[in-house]
Amino acid sequence: MAKPVVAVVGRPNVGKSTLFNKIAGSRISIVEDTPGVTRDRIYADCEWVGKQFTLIDTGGIEPYSSDIILLQMRRQAQLAIDTADVIVLLVDGREGMTASDLEVANMIRKSNRPVVLAVNKIENKDIEKNIYEFYNLGIGDPMAISAEQGLGLGDFLDRIVESFDSSLVSQEEDTRLKIAVLGKPNAGKSSIVNRLLGEDRVIVSEVAGTTRDAIDSTFKYFGEEYVLIDTAGLRRKSKIYDDIERYSIVRAVAAVDRADVCMIVIDANTGISEQDAKIAGIAHNRGKASIIVVNKWDIYEKDQGSVKKFEKDIRNTLSFMPYAPIIFISALTGQRVNKIMETVLLVSNEYSKRVTTGTLNEVIGEAVLMNQPPSDKGRRLKIYYATQGAVKPPTFIIFVNDKGLLHFSYERFLENQIRNAFGFVGTPIRLIAREKK
Ligand code: GDP
Ligand code: GDP
Repeated sequence: MAKPVVAVVGRPNVGKSTLFNKIAGSRISIVEDTPGVTRDRIYADCEWVGKQFTLIDTGGIEPYSSDIILLQMRRQAQLAIDTADVIVLLVDGREGMTASDLEVANMIRKSNRPVVLAVNKIENKDIEKNIYEFYNLGIGDPMAISAEQGLGLGDFLDRIVESFDSSLVSQEEDTRLKIAVLGKPNAGKSSIVNRLLGEDRVIVSEVAGTTRDAIDSTFKYFGEEYVLIDTAGLRRKSKIYDDIERYSIVRAVAAVDRADVCMIVIDANTGISEQDAKIAGIAHNRGKASIIVVNKWDIYEKDQGSVKKFEKDIRNTLSFMPYAPIIFISALTGQRVNKIMETVLLVSNEYSKRVTTGTLNEVIGEAVLMNQPPSDKGRRLKIYYATQGAVKPPTFIIFVNDKGLLHFSYERFLENQIRNAFGFVGTPIRLIAREKK
């Protein structure tokens, strides 16, 4: 099931970063070989009473100048409305209500998204009465918290988690394959979406009738129904945040969370870039299957080695994702557009593939013979056995004598051996070491 997205909106200095860090704590995942994405703390994976969600910080554009605060606030709020299941409006209980708080509250109210209103910096009884004026925002009961001192956060998180139930009911039974279309502006995402939708264009998901769902389209392919999560359509709806990279990352995270397969669209004309790597990194980190679609191949100046050279560039820049198949297409002429769904279905199969414990252990056994496990201070890693614990993405549990001895490079080696034997094209795979007593 898709992880719910919670977006925090609020004026500069109300305490968004403080709140974010308090809640996300050490759970902000950093994967070393994925460039950019996680280091600037745009989103974090969180858990409360056993429920997982993604927390995103829609703010954080520095430095603010006072005349653009209102504009930024509108952008943030629109972004939250478009991408989140639950919106947190954070206000400053020491400064009191401001005009921009009111404006944002109005936008949120019109969107009908579930909202939690938190009044921050309430550290003592004396100022608790400050929360009452925020009833005037008209978006429900204000909750007193102190992000800095961790006060009221339990109730606050309870309230967030309760809101999931109402906003997610309709998604629970949806078993259709969901495909996110990602890429930089102008890469050709909408053109590809139009190609895939073809005559079916009019069919739009009827789930819940919310803003976000309206950007999902469904189409049929060989009698089966699929859902396209189109981040380009989202952009068109709210052109105001076109140019800001942070926003495109937030949108990508929200789309990826709901998807099974990610289509990373690259513009052949501009070549692969750091931003493409960030977007691909999101799909990889969040354990989704991916295909790489190089678009506009019709106008790319080709010669003998073009495909090879382009592939090499991609493999270099997306070195954390060697498993993703690459296809070269033109949405404009239709060239090889038929490959898209073929490849999506291929990786989707691999994404949910299960291998038997018997063959898995044969493969691991041979790997160990081929390349002796590492040792440290006279102690050698022993691998007892392995089993596939999960699919989507394929996850392998490896029972060992000492987890500390399973170094990254040996893990990589095992992953490669597993891939050599079973494929798992287009999907990340995870290895989890467990110590056997
Ligand atoms: P952001 O701009 O919304 O991300 O706000 P920050 O998290 O950077 O916080 C702005 C200022 O408010 C910092 O000086 C924080 O130390 C302070 N602050 C944040 N949370 C609290 C709180 O719960 N109580 C008090 N008194 N100050 C806080
Ligand atoms: P998006 O921003 O990623 O949704 O990109 P669009 O689908 O709006 O396309 C951006 C521009 O690239 C438009 O002018 C398209 O006509 C053009 N375009 C899209 N696909 C192709 C293609 O395969 N070849 C060429 N030559 N142009 C394309």
